[in-house]
Amino acid sequence: MSTPHLLFKDIDEPGLDTLDVYVKRGGYDNLKKALTMPPEAVVEELKASGIRGRGGAGFQMGTKLSFLPKGTMDKYVVCNADESEPGTFKDRELMQKIPHLLIEGILIAGYAAQATKSFIFIRGEYDQQASILEAAVAEAKAAGYIGENILGSGHSQDMWVHRGAGAYICGEETGLLDSLEGRRGNPRLKPPFPANQGLYQGPTLINNVETLSTAPLIIGMGGAEYAKLGAENSTGTKLVSVSGNVKNPGNFEIELGMKSRDIIEGLAGGVPDGRQVKFWFPGGSSSPVLLPEDLDLTYDFDTMAKAGSMLGSGAIIVVDDSNKVVDVALKLAKFYKHESCGKCSPCREGTNWTVKMLQRIDAGVATPMDLDILASVQDQIMGNCLCVLGDAMAMPLSSMVKKFREEFEEHIELARARNPYGDEDAGQAEPPIEIAAA
Ligand code: SF4
Repeated sequence: MSTPHLLFKDIDEPGLDTLDVYVKRGGYDNLKKALTMPPEAVVEELKASGIRGRGGAGFQMGTKLSFLPKGTMDKYVVCNADESEPGTFKDRELMQKIPHLLIEGILIAGYAAQATKSFIFIRGEYDQQASILEAAVAEAKAAGYIGENILGSGHSQDMWVHRGAGAYICGEETGLLDSLEGRRGNPRLKPPFPANQGLYQGPTLINNVETLSTAPLIIGMGGAEYAKLGAENSTGTKLVSVSGNVKNPGNFEIELGMKSRDIIEGLAGGVPDGRQVKFWFPGGSSSPVLLPEDLDLTYDFDTMAKAGSMLGSGAIIVVDDSNKVVDVALKLAKFYKHESCGKCSPCREGTNWTVKMLQRIDAGVATPMDLDILASVQDQIMGNCLCVLGDAMAMPLSSMVKKFREEFEEHIELARARNPYGDEDAGQAEPPIEIAAA
């Protein structure tokens, strides 16, 4: 399948982060076009494109926009630029190299929603990208693309860049809103959903960087034309971040529906010579793992879901046979334990106990029965938390225990043989345990 470049077209052109170069290549023309259309027609165009959110949940952007109430109350557009899912780094490249595309997308979405205020919530670690965005917003304000009566259209919209403080949970939309309002970034109970009651209790459209950056391209080519790209129910192109054990990690723009093998072995160069794919995360570290035999599946929302996983944020992490599954599981569990906000028990306690149990396995003080308890803890977390963080750990953990049970058992046996007296701290001090390649 060919790979059309929409978002990454000329992405490495020097100076593309400046207004001058961006405008010379047609930048803000699609905003001008949108401003000549009734706001409802812009919403319809985005709906016709079928674009699904590129941040993880995969909800249709046009439908989300249509949920915002009509009327003259204060409405907001919030761009989720937190990009905190491990393995995901595509939004960083967009913001760094073509920030005005995102700004244009936010303005188009704001016009469609009749929102007058917009925010880009960017993770604190993205210092360079935040500075680039701040400069780009200032340029766009000076040129009249942001502010009062934009380009004489009657639509007014302001924009601010807000830096987060580096918490995974602020990538969750309601945690993000709390943080933006100046509070601790704790997820909110839903409903109400942000479309009705979001930032400062006002109707709020929240979309991810890639989703909003695609809006100008959809307006430019037309929703129906955009919908011809990709696969059924997964229209368009998608940026994928490929990392882990591959020769050529990086961001790639693919047409949805491309074979997963062609992404991992073709674009990313495959695993190092002499190694085999052991398993892979198709949609960030929170997606259930898939196996080498799943590489021939097409990469789209529905196919990944049918395979028992998800496309998520489009971050493919490849793990080769030089890794032990227990090590990967423990690293993940530690991350989610650290990032849990502690608001609800299944997540707060479940992530903590999962780390402890994996450490027991590694220390040689667990038995194969502990694997059933580990799996059961994941089952008790899933679907019982306030936000998605609990599931984000439980889903991949559960899939690893299920698909690599034999290796877990072998790890337990070898670790017990090294620690015959059941010293609880043994795993931390012992050299790595060699597990035969799967
Ligand atoms: Fe906080 Fe975890 Fe509950 Fe989410 S699931 S609200 S991160 S404790």
